[in-house]
Amino acid sequence: MRIVVVKFGGSSVATPERIKRVAERIVRTKDEGVSVVAVVSAMGDTTDDLLALARQITDRPPTRELDMLLATGEQQSIALLAMAIQALGQPVISLTGAQGGITTDGVHTKAKIQAVNAERILGELAEGRIVIVAGFQGVTEDDEITTLGRGGSDTTAVALAAALQAERCEIFTDVDGVYTADPRLVPAARRLPAISYGEMLEMASSGAVVLQPRAVELAAQYGVVLEVRSSFNEHRGTLVREAGEMLEKEMYVSGVTHDTNVAKVVLIDVPDRPGVAHRIFSALARERINVDMIVQSTKAEQTTDLLFTVSRDDLPRTAEVMEQVSRELGAKGILTDLSVAKVSVVGAGMVSNPGVAALMFEALAERGINIQVISTSEIRISCLIEAERIAEAANAIHAKFGLDRSALGEAVDLR
Ligand code: ASP
Ligand code: MG
Repeated sequence: MRIVVVKFGGSSVATPERIKRVAERIVRTKDEGVSVVAVVSAMGDTTDDLLALARQITDRPPTRELDMLLATGEQQSIALLAMAIQALGQPVISLTGAQGGITTDGVHTKAKIQAVNAERILGELAEGRIVIVAGFQGVTEDDEITTLGRGGSDTTAVALAAALQAERCEIFTDVDGVYTADPRLVPAARRLPAISYGEMLEMASSGAVVLQPRAVELAAQYGVVLEVRSSFNEHRGTLVREAGEMLEKEMYVSGVTHDTNVAKVVLIDVPDRPGVAHRIFSALARERINVDMIVQSTKAEQTTDLLFTVSRDDLPRTAEVMEQVSRELGAKGILTDLSVAKVSVVGAGMVSNPGVAALMFEALAERGINIQVISTSEIRISCLIEAERIAEAANAIHAKFGLDRSALGEAVDLR
């Protein structure tokens, strides 16, 4: 059996009209002579609305009940989509995560898929039905309903594609694919024809979340090739796949990303002795605060400054924890700064091409933009800069690496 898994995000099924359009699209896919499994998210902002509703009842909704509530969002959209397909005269059935055989662990609101029993879905497909599966949800061995974390429908789609050995997995969303930069910030950005799993993950961690990172990890693990494409037009999208499968690229940088959800914290005059960094970062880890960039300077004195970044939402708690750690360590105190942002270049090709960092710094130097912190991975270089100049920096770096649409002589707007 040739199976295709398609996934439609919340914006693609936000209204009855859009649901009908998605139904037509699914039927067209089936007309190619393949069996279709469609995974859908909740309509529009339904998940946010349900969360807000829970908060009107209590500040601390029990996570089990939250899952019970959130799972209803996807249950609405699968039923409506199945009705729309039925109205087009096609045999179809909608299934919840549990009915679709998706078993998870018991960590409510961020459960992980442990197994997919594809028997029911395969049986329905064999009967000639289109199968619509609720994204973002599963069930534990004890029959408890769980959800997979925000954006979890992507992960549902990838898990099903792997379990069903689908010949393709298309992720339909409200953008045309993965871009070299956010087109709202960098107007010359282009759609990438393909990107590797590693690059996609780095882009997500530096601000461009097109797919749930866990879905990308799962796809890499099982070798599921994804195509991110628009549900509003017929354009080809961006393939997400193994780096090795790509042709050698002219461009060793695939994209420029930015992240404005950044706060800087400095611990001033911390004693320079073993165990201090451990003390500081274990205190943050206990609070489950994610630290991104870290810099420790060396000075002639017996003290040092330690700087790191966290997400803005984590700043209040971080400041609390650090005030106390600072007192305990006998440091001078802490500084916090919200006027920073992070700009990054991402590219699998930088592993074998020296000079990427130098080129990025050149673009910033030419504009007189000061770099406060630098951090790198094998395929990413990030700079912390003044938040007000983030657009200028992203555009300058994008142009510097020859990523601008005009640089490639492309006249057509791919958006
Ligand atoms: N409806 C869920 C959310 O909004 C899952 C998803 O959209 O993938 O996070
Ligand atoms: Mg959603």
